Amino acid sequence: MTGIKPQPGIMKIAPYQGGASCVDGVANVVKLSSNENPIGASDDAKEAFRKASFDLHRYPPTDHASLREAIGEVHGLDPGRMICGVGSDEIIAFLCQAYAGPGTEVIHTEHGFAMYRISALANGARPVEVAERDRVTDIDAILAACTPKTSIVFIANPNNPTGTMVGEGELARLADGLPDHVLLVIDGAYAEYVDGYDGGAALVEARENVVMTRTFSKLYGLGGLRVGWGYGPAHVIDVLNRIRGPFNLSQPALVTAEAAVRDAAWADKCRNENARMRAWLADALAGHGVASDTSTANFILARFAGPKEAEACDEYLKTQGLIVRRVAGYNLPQCLRITVGDEPACRRVAHAVGQFMGAI
Ligand SMILES: *Cc1c(COP(=O)(O)O)cnc(C)c1O
Repeated sequence: MTGIKPQPGIMKIAPYQGGASCVDGVANVVKLSSNENPIGASDDAKEAFRKASFDLHRYPPTDHASLREAIGEVHGLDPGRMICGVGSDEIIAFLCQAYAGPGTEVIHTEHGFAMYRISALANGARPVEVAERDRVTDIDAILAACTPKTSIVFIANPNNPTGTMVGEGELARLADGLPDHVLLVIDGAYAEYVDGYDGGAALVEARENVVMTRTFSKLYGLGGLRVGWGYGPAHVIDVLNRIRGPFNLSQPALVTAEAAVRDAAWADKCRNENARMRAWLADALAGHGVASDTSTANFILARFAGPKEAEACDEYLKTQGLIVRRVAGYNLPQCLRITVGDEPACRRVAHAVGQFMGAI
């Protein structure tokens, strides 16, 4: 026995499970479980990473000025209201650390990203789950769930694992309707996949209560590097910078992300290829009797007749060396989330799902 105890809330956390990357006894697996970019990072980014190896004895800058400048230029945003983190996960953690705590409530949606709940609990706040409407964020339900204790509302738009999104008018209605002590966080991990969508940036600029988070892990193909960023009102960015470790991002991470964001041609190619294969995969699955909502991201949420069928399909796919994501932990036991891979991967997974559906 020991009297040493963690802070309240921490033992309620179910540790985050990453997507699997191997199947026992199966060679040549295709990993479609973590929404990774199947084409990888741009050559410019890889070159910047290689060059950074010559300066590993140097500490990185603490202000991330050069990366913020680059993001600002590419996205048309003010670098002064930006903060960079070790993945957007770290921005989510900073937000909870700064604004949520014991006695407060953190709202996330029914099928929302796991890190919102984990970060809320890690800081002693109470996570509050709000229902979605047919796998779409329900603005009215969120507004109705706000109380004097609510500190943060997290929504991902597009959402993971549903792939659905709400329009900019709906986002504005949410920001307008929140009590004035509540911070709205719009997680734009998949925003770059949506043509003409700013991820909520205009809303951030127009208001004092909205923060947007973004990442290099998805479209930019840098999940292994761990770089994300947040864009918010000056008062929030100032608070987050006070708790940020000065050297949270390594020099290789900073220069590689900068090269990646400046390579607009690569980003366009990845966006277009994703859209093409996503449409193909959704059609192919539908042809095999597997429905999905229209996805706005780089994955498809395949819907089966029930949890048993989804699990059996997952088991069959594994025997074929295909790793997709079970999403029972996201209250979607009848579904499997399938990352849009390259063309051979999409053909393989569609073929295997077809074999499975034909056999039941
Ligand atoms: C993948 C993902 C992230 C990105 O996390 P990083 O820490 O930036 O890799 C954030 N939010 C959602 C909803 C995601 O799916």
